[in-house]
Parts: sequence; C-alpha cells; structure tokens
Amino acid sequence: MIEKLKDKAMELGAFKAGIVKASEIKTDACFRKMCADNMCGNYGRSYMCPPDIGPIEELMEKIKTFDRVLVYQTVGELEDSYDFEGMMEAGERHNKLAQKLWDFTDESGCTEALHLGAGGCRLCSVCGKKTGDPCRFPARAMGSLEAYGVNVSELAPQAGMKYINGQNTVTYFGAVFMK
Ligand code: SF4
Repeated sequence: MIEKLKDKAMELGAFKAGIVKASEIKTDACFRKMCADNMCGNYGRSYMCPPDIGPIEELMEKIKTFDRVLVYQTVGELEDSYDFEGMMEAGERHNKLAQKLWDFTDESGCTEALHLGAGGCRLCSVCGKKTGDPCRFPARAMGSLEAYGVNVSELAPQAGMKYINGQNTVTYFGAVFMK
C-alpha cells in the first residue's frame, strides 16, 4: 500500500517522495519551543497547532506506534525571497495534495493512517480557534511534522530528498504514517 501511496503522491504533483521506517525518525521536544516563539503567528490560534494539539512528548510517542512512513515534498517557485504571496500559494497547493492523499488512504481502507503536513492546519481559511468556534472538520484537521517534534531537516535526506531546493523556491514537507 505504501508504494501505491508514493506513486499517488508523485501523480498528484509531489516533487519527490520516499519511504522511511517510523522507528528511524528523529524527534526532539525543542521544536515546541520554536512553536512557542510564534514566528508564524499560529501559536494558540489553531486547534492543530500548539498548545491545543497536545503535549509534544505524547505526540512524539504516538508516531513511534506506526511502522512505515511516506515522506513527500512539494516545491514552489517564488519571484524572490520576499514573495510572501507565492509562499502562501505554494502552501495551499501543498495542502490540497495532502488532502487528496488523505482521500486516497481512506478510499483504500487505511483509516488509521496519520497525516501530517507543513505549518498549521490550512483546511479552513480562518481556523475556528480564531473565531471561537469548534473545529469544523475534526476528522480532517491536519497537524504539522514540527508540532509532533519531527526533525524535518534530518528526515529529508533520510527519505532521499533535499531540505531546500534552490534559490527562489519554497519547499514544503508532508508525511503519512502507516501501520
Ligand atoms: S479543520 Fe478548520 S477549524 Fe479545524 S483545525 Fe483545521 S483550520 Fe482549524
């Protein structure tokens, strides 16, 4: 199944995809401190970002309960390194791909797969956390690799890909944890 998922990721527009063992993925609780520094502005403003997503120690333990992991990346072209709009558009494209992969695992009967993406959950244009509403799609809300303490810069070469893909590009990572 995971090989089919890898093919599907490439068919849907991933730049690269690779498979690693969940037991080999390096995690570190220090990534929670980076979220708490709130460089992205999402800390406490999304149900799928810290602190709402839960203690990082529990999330790091959770990913160890899976066997194999599909890692994929998408690469967006930017006009220059200040092209914030281009970064947002590339993030949207990445998220759409991630949701289509989720459709694929559901349709294939892999309902226990854990899907993680890049940055906070972007399923809704404005998260219910910001408007005081409950999560609108709890069955499809997606956390990030960083929120689970995954060291993505080490995960990339493990999965046979670069962490950064050149000047004026933005690279986003996603992963599907399978049992
Ligand atoms: S599904 Fe919507 S409300 Fe729920 S965490 Fe994602 S963005 Fe927020």
